[in-house]
Amino acid sequence: MLAAGLISRGPVYDALASTDRAHFFPESCPDEVQYQDAPYPIGYGATISAPHMHAHVLEALSAKLVPGARVLDVGSGTGILLAAFSKVVCPGGGKVVGVEHVPELVRSSLANLAKAAVGDAVLTAALGGACEVVCSDGRLGYASAAPYDAIHVGAAAPTLPRALVDQLAPGGMLVIPVGDDEQALMEVVKDANGNVRSRELFGVRYVPLTDLRHQLQ
Ligand code: SAH
Repeated sequence: MLAAGLISRGPVYDALASTDRAHFFPESCPDEVQYQDAPYPIGYGATISAPHMHAHVLEALSAKLVPGARVLDVGSGTGILLAAFSKVVCPGGGKVVGVEHVPELVRSSLANLAKAAVGDAVLTAALGGACEVVCSDGRLGYASAAPYDAIHVGAAAPTLPRALVDQLAPGGMLVIPVGDDEQALMEVVKDANGNVRSRELFGVRYVPLTDLRHQLQ
């Protein structure tokens, strides 16, 4: 991914490269899928995204991912991006919130993060409070810890959720897949005056950002 220019050397690269993807799979998954560059089903209609998508979104948000920044990850799933975000922003007093609506995934993501934190002082400290996972509808964001310098959404929204744009700090950036069958990864930026601009990065395919009942059908 580095050679292909998907991600460049720097703090987000270091954070992703030091996060072992094997910690973020259910026990029942075969070992050989853990390091494949492909999404993999983790149950409850969810997947762990492909490593190249983790690299793309971290790279897209990299200018905002600095020590002390506040980050929201909607549809945090396995928790793998929470580990990467925390390693970069928490040392400077930052905050990382994951919002996931499947209670079992909230629980397993916390267990995954605890495994990933073994021998990692920064992630261990972050799990003491700076990094948290909330069980709720991510379409509403998480107002109590807003505003956020960076928001990532790991599931495709039919339209841009207004609450997420509202919860962006001035100067903040939101990266979100938007669309139903045809989806595009969108980058939405709010300038210092609160003006919002968005642009399409490229076509993607994500599970939907939807109602819990609909997802579990
Ligand atoms: N980046 C995550 C992606 C997980 S898949 C990873 O690589 O592990 C997308 C996640 O979004 C799923 O876990 C799904 O349960 C969650 N999701 C879908 N709709 C949601 C909603 N309305 N609120 C919160 N989470 C949602």
